[in-house]
Amino acid sequence: MTMRYQTYTLHNFKNIPQIKKLSEDDILSIEVVGNVLPFKTNNYVVDELIDWDNFRTDPMFILNFPQKNMLQEEDFNHMASLIKSDADKETLRTEANIIREKLNPHPAGQLEYNVPELDGVKLSGVQHKYNETMLFFPTQGQTCHAYCTFCFRWPQFTNMNDLKFSMKEADLIVEYLKRNTQITDILITGGDPMVMKSKVFEAYITKILDANIEHLQTIRVGSKSLSFWPYRFLTDSDADDMLSIFERVTKAGKTLSFMAHFNHPRELSTEAVKQAVQKIRNTGATIRTQSPVLNHINASSAVWADMWRKQVKLGMVPYYMFIARDTGAQGYFGIPIVRAWKIFQKAYSQVSGIARTVRGPSMSCTPGKVRIIGVSEIKGEKIMALEFIQGRNSDWTARPFFAKYDCKAQWIDDLKPAFGMESFFYEEELAEMLLN
Ligand SMILES: *Cc1c(COP(=O)(O)O)cnc(C)c1O
Ligand code: SF4
Repeated sequence: MTMRYQTYTLHNFKNIPQIKKLSEDDILSIEVVGNVLPFKTNNYVVDELIDWDNFRTDPMFILNFPQKNMLQEEDFNHMASLIKSDADKETLRTEANIIREKLNPHPAGQLEYNVPELDGVKLSGVQHKYNETMLFFPTQGQTCHAYCTFCFRWPQFTNMNDLKFSMKEADLIVEYLKRNTQITDILITGGDPMVMKSKVFEAYITKILDANIEHLQTIRVGSKSLSFWPYRFLTDSDADDMLSIFERVTKAGKTLSFMAHFNHPRELSTEAVKQAVQKIRNTGATIRTQSPVLNHINASSAVWADMWRKQVKLGMVPYYMFIARDTGAQGYFGIPIVRAWKIFQKAYSQVSGIARTVRGPSMSCTPGKVRIIGVSEIKGEKIMALEFIQGRNSDWTARPFFAKYDCKAQWIDDLKPAFGMESFFYEEELAEMLLN
């Protein structure tokens, strides 16, 4: 039997039967914040993930439904008064855009610095920052089965069109892959590429496989479909077609690595997700998991340890713990780096080595992916030890460096070098790289 897929946005969320549990204020909050930040959920999240008896503190509700405190109080009040006075759409849009601009819609220089060129033509749907792995944002995969309220890609889903990544030309990508023999991995991402029809996804994969690019070993698919719509692999009309494409990749001798995004153990608990995981694994694909650590959703070591254990039990490989990026509702979801490390350390130390494949907590920032190794004290100075998991210059990788202890810092920009140093070891070189 096919599972009906019903999405809910700002325009129809009041039709959700469970919404009657909400107060008028709760509903106004959704409308106000939902006018500024993207809002979309669906019947699977609503019926199988959210605990409606405790919705105000429920991590799954907070993951999808806009929360009042995601906006600054003055911005919230301003939007609320416009909505209450029935302001027209154009006014709402203009005012929402002003608030969006304050939310750092474009962190870590993603658009400016990482878009490669081919014969002088910018590949606008591609990011190539680290040698081995190229990111591809297929046009048809730039939405999701539901939207995470914390998403750092939120401008893609609002009408801030000029911030979108995407491109149609698969041929250019293949040509770029061929010429860049250092690339072993292509990461197909979005949005969520699993919103694409299997036929569309297949067209891209066929182009890539037919090109016979020997140095390309791994096709990664970054997706939250296992959490938001596991029926994608079970009952959707083209579910089996998608699984067949995965199998074609693995039979061609390539690795299909499904990079699954899970934020909370609840997302691993339904029959549907368990079956979908099994179906994907049966194609020969491996599933690796990742999530940011988020206040109000998973800022607890018990939650992470539970999540990693459950993932391993289902045959998945824990891969990344991220620190929430400096964009959108970071004020609501962000936690200090030191606290993220404490959560990581406590969770990591209580799981089997099989689950300690996870790396983090890591910040994806302009110089690279920076992990906090831990907090320590050296000759009376309290410090934070850091390292690059990925560096804009690959030679920076795995070289420890040290910041002054700062229990409030939430992002790399907040950190100062330890031991009286003027700057971190990479900063001068980074500044030069960004000029070119
Ligand atoms: C995280 C990331 C990758 C992949 O890094 P891995 O450590 O290989 O998973 C590639 N490109 C960008 C821009 C990234 O942020
Ligand atoms: S699924 Fe990924 S891209 Fe989509 S809203 Fe969530 S975090 Fe953002």
